[in-house]
Amino acid sequence: MGEHTDYNAGLCLPIALPQRTYAAVRLRADRRLRMRSLQSSRQYELDLDDVRAGNPAGWGGYAAGVLWALQDAGHQVSGLDLMLDSRVPLGAGLSSSAALECSVAAAVSDLLDLGLLGDDHARATLAGICVNAENTIAQAPTGGMDQSAALRCQIGHALLLDCRDGSIAQVPFDLSAHGLSLLIMDTRVEHALDDGQYAQRRDSCEKAARQLGLPSLREVAFEDLDTTLERLSDNVIRARARHIVSEIERVRKTVALLLAGRVHEVGSLFNASHASMRDGFEISCAELDLAVEAATTHGALGARMTGGGFGGSAIALVPAESAAEVTSAVIHAFADKGFGRPDCFEVAAGGPARRES
Ligand code: ADP
Ligand code: MG
Repeated sequence: MGEHTDYNAGLCLPIALPQRTYAAVRLRADRRLRMRSLQSSRQYELDLDDVRAGNPAGWGGYAAGVLWALQDAGHQVSGLDLMLDSRVPLGAGLSSSAALECSVAAAVSDLLDLGLLGDDHARATLAGICVNAENTIAQAPTGGMDQSAALRCQIGHALLLDCRDGSIAQVPFDLSAHGLSLLIMDTRVEHALDDGQYAQRRDSCEKAARQLGLPSLREVAFEDLDTTLERLSDNVIRARARHIVSEIERVRKTVALLLAGRVHEVGSLFNASHASMRDGFEISCAELDLAVEAATTHGALGARMTGGGFGGSAIALVPAESAAEVTSAVIHAFADKGFGRPDCFEVAAGGPARRES
């Protein structure tokens, strides 16, 4: 819960997927970066000193960006040989880019003894470095939730992240104990965050805050939402701001329900969140809407798109015994509409990036 709230200094509530991105790293004595991935035919060899905004382009920007950002934060870094392998679907709204950055960052921190993997405070610093890599070198204006999830989540918990001050709370999220399951429905529609839509949404939010004379939309009280929105200049900005402020409130409500053990009731918040992203923030697409609709009409307690939008994945909260039925309903609904086959799988809340020896 909590989509596009991160760059509004808001609250969000991600989990880490159990799927991993693996980075095998060897430090070099020189400043060369040699980088390969089993998920890409594109290979890189370049000098660390040539890394800058937009260079290298493609996936290498995320990896090289981490080295650049570590250096930007004052750390002494060297070149490296890198091989990546990932079980996180790429470009599916499931944060494979953050998984890539955080796996490289964790490996380099470990090998160079930078101490950025120790406690949560150190991990928060490392997450910030990965965000800088993504924003500055890969030039994706994303907000930072993904990197915090990859580095700061705990197994069996959702991460309540306050993006105003970076503080967190671990919220128990053991669905199986409640007879429930979380189903991911990857539509396999390629999202493209770099086609400007994401940046446009971010601009609208910043414009709304400016018109209200506030540092961010976080400062709008949910109780005053209607009267506050009247002060905005047009209906599009109003709809964007309504999504952010109501989504932050849904994060609060989700946490309260989880802490009270009323996990089933989170389903209706999923539905409200999806409606808000579809109609107000306008970041959904036909495939995501169909996945949500098919899931909820075949037994899911609620469903919502997840990630930046315009494709990628939706998630559904389902009674564990209905997961197979919901999956087949979604697959059939896609076939009926002539859409490509979605990839559906269940997940539990996983742990953070770490060294595997
Ligand atoms: P998401 O983070 O939701 O998966 P993004 O568009 O932010 O979507 O990031 C996807 C991009 O990240 C891919 O297009 C690719 O450039 C890069 N990427 C992620 N994982 C890998 C990997 N294992 N190997 C190569 N590139 C990767
Ligand atoms: Mg990403």
